[in-house]
Amino acid sequence: MGKMDAITDSPRYIRLNARDNVAIVVNDFGLPKGSRFPCGLELRAFVPQGHKTALTDIAEGEPIIRYGEVIGTAAMPLQAGDWVDEARIVMPEAPPLDGLEISTAVPAVQPPLEGFTFEGFRNADGSVGTRNILGISTSVQCVAGTLDHAIKRIRAELLPHYPNVDDVVGLTHTYGCGVAINAPDAVVPIRTLQNLALNPNFGGEVMVVGLGCEKLVPERLLPEGLSDAVVRMQDQALEGFGAIVDTILTMADARLKVLDRRRRETCPAADLVIGLQCGGSDAFSGVTANPALGFAADLLVRAGATVMFSEVTEVRDAIQLLTRRAATAEIGRALVREMEWYDAYLARGGADRSANTTPGNKKGGLANIVEKSLGSIVKSGSSPIAGVLAPGEKARTKGLLFAATPASDFICGTLQLASGMTLQVFTTGRGTPYGLAAAPVIKVATRSELARRWHDLIDFDAGRIATGEMTIEEAGWELFRLILDVASGRTKPWSDRWGIHNDLALFNPAPVT
Ligand code: CA
Repeated sequence: MGKMDAITDSPRYIRLNARDNVAIVVNDFGLPKGSRFPCGLELRAFVPQGHKTALTDIAEGEPIIRYGEVIGTAAMPLQAGDWVDEARIVMPEAPPLDGLEISTAVPAVQPPLEGFTFEGFRNADGSVGTRNILGISTSVQCVAGTLDHAIKRIRAELLPHYPNVDDVVGLTHTYGCGVAINAPDAVVPIRTLQNLALNPNFGGEVMVVGLGCEKLVPERLLPEGLSDAVVRMQDQALEGFGAIVDTILTMADARLKVLDRRRRETCPAADLVIGLQCGGSDAFSGVTANPALGFAADLLVRAGATVMFSEVTEVRDAIQLLTRRAATAEIGRALVREMEWYDAYLARGGADRSANTTPGNKKGGLANIVEKSLGSIVKSGSSPIAGVLAPGEKARTKGLLFAATPASDFICGTLQLASGMTLQVFTTGRGTPYGLAAAPVIKVATRSELARRWHDLIDFDAGRIATGEMTIEEAGWELFRLILDVASGRTKPWSDRWGIHNDLALFNPAPVT
């Protein structure tokens, strides 16, 4: 086991599993050739931070093991102390989806965690928001500029009268027209838009701005029973841009009045719907940030909350570890169904899962998607998998859910919002300013060097686990408490303090016309 002692400049590595024959270099900026570890191992070459060194000699074709799992085979003979970079590892095939073990190792349900609460906005349907936001839906991109204009006026002229409302957000996107609206896969973007409007942070106050000739009829975005909540720009009664914008403002004003009556109240942590994501991952993701998040996810599940992990291409290569954890055979089969669907989707586009790893991932020490996946699934913690959502489906059950989404940060964020996420925790190794307008995002750095350099963008430094300042359990508890604080509006994450938010990005696997 690599030592995780207090900060020191002496050479350090982390080996996670007794079976591992590689370990990752911990020291900031890497270690030069000739560096000697406390165990006596000497580096035969410079190894960048987060990159792997061989702990033993590994013959060509022999397995390279990290997290106790095979991440590839040696492309050439390797000696102890070599830098095991991407070119020296042959990536294995993805695990076949037929014959996976299903529900064979369902973790025991951990004891309930009681007494943890947050201050949230309870809605009529029982859901609880962490923010009080007016969300304005759109049925087509054509109206986006108009709505942006209207929102500037709403912020300037209306919001000051409603101090209990946090913000107004336009749910704009590129869908709605010029698309094969009846194609089977069109169900994904349409369902996403329908469910986005119902996100608990919007308090059930739905309105839609549409054009009038688009394929996605605005009424399709209204919940059942609501009919007079559409502004249609081509409406004969609306003469000119000024009248159109005024109509949007009038409709928004009525909803702001209702939202302004919302007050935070003490709610059990069980009312939280937390999304987990990673982006700009590095080799520390699976060592610091994701294990801390996994521990926090277990605490949330024990407290009765809904916790979603996602990103199909980052679980596909570790699916054999997840199907075993499925609470029921049906849930296990649903996991396999989502993997199969995505395999076919990628194949149709002439791509495979190797398209996932980015140049930044590789620079950060992740050789391939197998290594990235093993580090990624750690954030799901150790609870039984209690449900599976197809992309954009609304979560209706508690516990740990797999919400199938692409790994793309913005698309995953948008789909988790549609599934009802009211707060997201986002781990990053390389660093990203990522944020969402509709729900707060807590950004967790995998390395202290990043947390220091981006002190006004990163909310939580999990690098303290690698330096020995805290244990995974301590980091997990601290993160859990931060989640409760941010959900309560007591602490604002950096992306909200700066007001930097990414666009919504729909997942549209159907053809564009
Ligand atoms: Ca991502």
